[in-house]
Amino acid sequence: MKPSQSFLSEIISDDQYNCSICPRDCNADRNSTTSGYCNSSKGFDIASICIHKGEEPVIGGDVGICNVFFSGCNLQCIFCQNKQISSNSDRTFRSSITLEEVIEKICNCLDQGCHAVGFVSPSHMIPQMLRIINALHKIGRKPVIVYNTNAYDKVEVLKQLEGLIDVYLPDLKYSQSNPATELSDAPDYVDVANCAIREMFRQKGTPLHLDESGRAISGLIIRHLVLPGYIENSKGVLRYISENLSPRIHISLMSQYYPMDSVARHPDLNRVLRKDEYDEIVHEMEYLGMENGWVQELESSRVYLPDFKLKQPFKDENKLNLIPN
Ligand code: SF4
Repeated sequence: MKPSQSFLSEIISDDQYNCSICPRDCNADRNSTTSGYCNSSKGFDIASICIHKGEEPVIGGDVGICNVFFSGCNLQCIFCQNKQISSNSDRTFRSSITLEEVIEKICNCLDQGCHAVGFVSPSHMIPQMLRIINALHKIGRKPVIVYNTNAYDKVEVLKQLEGLIDVYLPDLKYSQSNPATELSDAPDYVDVANCAIREMFRQKGTPLHLDESGRAISGLIIRHLVLPGYIENSKGVLRYISENLSPRIHISLMSQYYPMDSVARHPDLNRVLRKDEYDEIVHEMEYLGMENGWVQELESSRVYLPDFKLKQPFKDENKLNLIPN
């Protein structure tokens, strides 16, 4: 199903008044540069467009994916590993670029062999994402489109993306409302994200379709970052997926958590994940019969920390250590 023209013209119109694109429902005027929870304008606030190899092997393939990292976010997780660019109060990485510049940068990555374009933290930037996809299609570029989201998305918006998104890559963060409130300022996260993931599952189901080179061209992969001290939360996430969707869904179980300065005083989050904690979650996955996907080696925490001051924000990313489950 393709998105309806009326929705598309509405969502990509130049006047973004009364923004309610995401579950925050701010009704903010996006013509202003500092409005709404996400503090975002209607421009292309993009922190980086670069080739990123540090993803699941099926996402990037040998060359890597062209990732478009939007600035700001509709969640403000206190432990965010991308805090440099996701903060809604710090506008250091908020330089707006033109659509033409965006397309030029993406085409540069595609010309280097990337087969896919990933939109990272797109939930507050869906009109901008749609303009980029439309512009790529107009010049005959049809890369695999990856929607890399925190899952704090509206179902009605996701329904309208059906047919445009090839691979959904949501991060299902919580099964408990306490950490969702305390850590991400989103008391309704569990309900909202579960509904969003159910809609992604309705669109894609369990099969992960690969091309002849083993790269994902359509499907759903659910990520989950295991947080130190929040083991029951992680078990609940896996149980939800197994019992309400399917144990055959592809899961990327991440251990790469690294304590940022912002959580130095937090009693649980001020350390890396212990091996026994991660092993317990891996065992839960096995107990639930979830065999599709990837687990991660524990040394991953520092490898994945980006520095968006650099042209290539991800260092050492060839040391990818996601391994098949
Ligand atoms: S996208 Fe931004 S302004 Fe719009 S509802 Fe969400 S947080 Fe509010």
